[in-house]
Amino acid sequence: MQAIPNVDFSPQIPEPTTSGSTLLIVDDEERIRTAYRQLLAAEGRKIEDCGSGSEALRRLERRDVDLLILDLNLPDIHGLEIMEWMVTKHIATAVVVFSGDESIDSAIRALRHGALEFVRKHGSPQELIDTVDRVLHRCRIEREHALMTVRLENSERLHRFLVEQSPDIIYTLDKKGHFIFVNGRVHGLLGYTREELLGKHYSTIVHPDDQEHARFAFNERRIGDRASTNVEIRLQTKTHRVRHFENRTIVAILSAQGLYAAAHDGPATRHFMGTSGVARDITDRKKAEETIAFQAFHDLLTGLPNRVLFKDRLAVALTQARRKGKRLGVMFIDIDRFKLVNDTYGHHEGDELLKSFAQRARSCLRSGDTLARQGGDEFTVLLPDLTSGEDAAVIAAKVLAEVKRPFRIAGLDFFTTVSIGISLFPDSGETPETLLRNADIAMYQIKGRGKNGYLQYAPEMHSGHSMRITLESDLRAALEGGDQFELHYQPQIRFSQGLTIGMEALIRWRHPQHGLMAPDTFIPLAEETGLIVALSDWVLDRALGQLAVWRRQGFTSLQLAINLSPKDFERNDLPERLVGRLAAHAIPADAIDIEITENLLMKEAEKNIDIVKQLRGCGLRVAIDDFGTRYSSLNYLRRFPINSIKIDQSFVRDLNPQNQSSTAIIHAISCIAHSFGLRVLAEGVETEAQRKLLSTLDCDDMQGFLFSRPLAAAEFEDFLTAGAFPSREGPRVC
Ligand code: C2E
Ligand code: CA
Ligand code: CA
Repeated sequence: MQAIPNVDFSPQIPEPTTSGSTLLIVDDEERIRTAYRQLLAAEGRKIEDCGSGSEALRRLERRDVDLLILDLNLPDIHGLEIMEWMVTKHIATAVVVFSGDESIDSAIRALRHGALEFVRKHGSPQELIDTVDRVLHRCRIEREHALMTVRLENSERLHRFLVEQSPDIIYTLDKKGHFIFVNGRVHGLLGYTREELLGKHYSTIVHPDDQEHARFAFNERRIGDRASTNVEIRLQTKTHRVRHFENRTIVAILSAQGLYAAAHDGPATRHFMGTSGVARDITDRKKAEETIAFQAFHDLLTGLPNRVLFKDRLAVALTQARRKGKRLGVMFIDIDRFKLVNDTYGHHEGDELLKSFAQRARSCLRSGDTLARQGGDEFTVLLPDLTSGEDAAVIAAKVLAEVKRPFRIAGLDFFTTVSIGISLFPDSGETPETLLRNADIAMYQIKGRGKNGYLQYAPEMHSGHSMRITLESDLRAALEGGDQFELHYQPQIRFSQGLTIGMEALIRWRHPQHGLMAPDTFIPLAEETGLIVALSDWVLDRALGQLAVWRRQGFTSLQLAINLSPKDFERNDLPERLVGRLAAHAIPADAIDIEITENLLMKEAEKNIDIVKQLRGCGLRVAIDDFGTRYSSLNYLRRFPINSIKIDQSFVRDLNPQNQSSTAIIHAISCIAHSFGLRVLAEGVETEAQRKLLSTLDCDDMQGFLFSRPLAAAEFEDFLTAGAFPSREGPRVC
């Protein structure tokens, strides 16, 4: 709201009094004054008199006398002098002069001095009465006229004020579209002064693309309800000289109506004069609307179209492809190790990776292709114009190659890969839904095959995908019963002593249809669905129960390793839960190794370190599993109260006398870990050569097929008693 400047709209002259007029008779002869008073008396008239010029001046100074009836020949001041004095004092009282001197000369002099009428002193009384009536009537008319003028001026000033202060541009055009009036607002909005625009054609301020549109509005001849309102038009600011307005376009909403000269003989003959109207700046509103519309159809992080817009474009492209008999491609892209970035570094870094990926993927596409973000680390691509199915494969290969360069995340080079599923119209589907679903299925297939690649949908993939969906409900059902799961135990060997020092519990699922399933096939699903917590509870109970049995049999020094998922650490009651289960099975806490992965300690580090400390405080042991695969540096081990590390199988697999780097890595890991007082265990030991090398590298505890595969409980007991690596104690002989 604009502040209204101090403009005075009050009338400049007083309203005429309804009480009538005040007359002042000035004559030195009292007889005449009395006679005139009687003669002129009338209703609503106030008559005063005085006998000298000086008295008259005093009375006139009060400025409330309407009519002065003045004798020219006064003893002290001449009547003409009084009139001159009135002029200098700007006293507006009307004057009727009367005098005994009846010469025409004296009359002219009086009239020249401003008298309105001249009356002979000895003329007829009626003449005086008529003259006074006439003059008073004239005075009244003049007053009313003056008042009217002031009112008109005020009203015009008010309108001018309103027009000038208006937040909108108010304009009038002549018949040919030239400005004949425009208010000052045009300067604030468009940078033109009013003078610059007057006489110019309206097209001067209209955006080139909106000229056609503007023609209809600015040539409006209709009036009233039929006239144009709400016409949206872009107006251009003055581009030269006034820097401030450079390159700016405002969006205005325009109203216009015909302007006609007042018709004297009916509307049929009215004369068209031009167009007038109002243009309101709605740029901000427009921007807000655009932002809202953008947000509804775009992903805010990457600025890419979202799934809604993607589906819409896909539907349009399908219609066109069908009409032209062309092929069309849909790609589903998933960043392979995205979760790791989010878990390890945090969401901000995860976001950075998504943005960088979006940029790189976009650079591989043609301008007509659409890259969209479906959510999370999933992207889709629409390739609307393919000559052959090969085209999509070429683009997928391009994206894969582009992603090969490391991404810079948190100051480090991060290497990632993507999995891409492709579906083609009409080969792999006809509707947006099937094309998207089949590209998704193909993407899951490639993930299952080790990620980092692309694959085109084939119908036989479908069964695999729907299996994943049914697997989830199977898992839920299996957890309710619990009897489909089994634990296998893989011995952990201290080779130098020829002993089995413990075992790792590894879960299997005996699926009624699919047979024995390895944990890799269902643990990720359990983690995604949150079922892992219940699964861990089952494992804990079963493994601790089994350990209790073995301990009762005499195997009291066995260490049991149990794998926990990062999801278990999201439960606040983890330490209490573990302690509760240990107590229930009467197992000492230090008989248990909790295996966790490195990224758990990097994600929400403080919170998880705190939990690990609590576990250690309860007496449990903690091992870092798959050590070396993630981003951990040995340095951070110092901060964590862990007991052991398990060198990942990949290093052991690569271990041979020729592979210097694997040997060096394992050596470094075991040296530093030992210096921190940590136990080092190598897993995945399959060959005697690997075993030998590990022994020379100071890595004494081992686990792997060389010693034993994971075994069912009964087999494991045999291994302990009859195998090459017995436990420290034999079974108690009953
Ligand atoms: P992990 O913790 O790294 O377990 C070791 C895996 O390596 C086991 O696979 C084991 O059978 C396999 N393995 C052992 N020795 C050798 C060898 O010499 N050569 C080769 N190639 N492989 C060997 P498994 O049982 O299939 O388990 C896979 C993963 O599933 C485990 O990896 C672990 O991360 C997870 N897992 C297993 N059981 C559980 C569980 O009860 N809870 C949770 N949260 N995860 C589990
Ligand atoms: Ca493990
Ligand atoms: Ca492992």
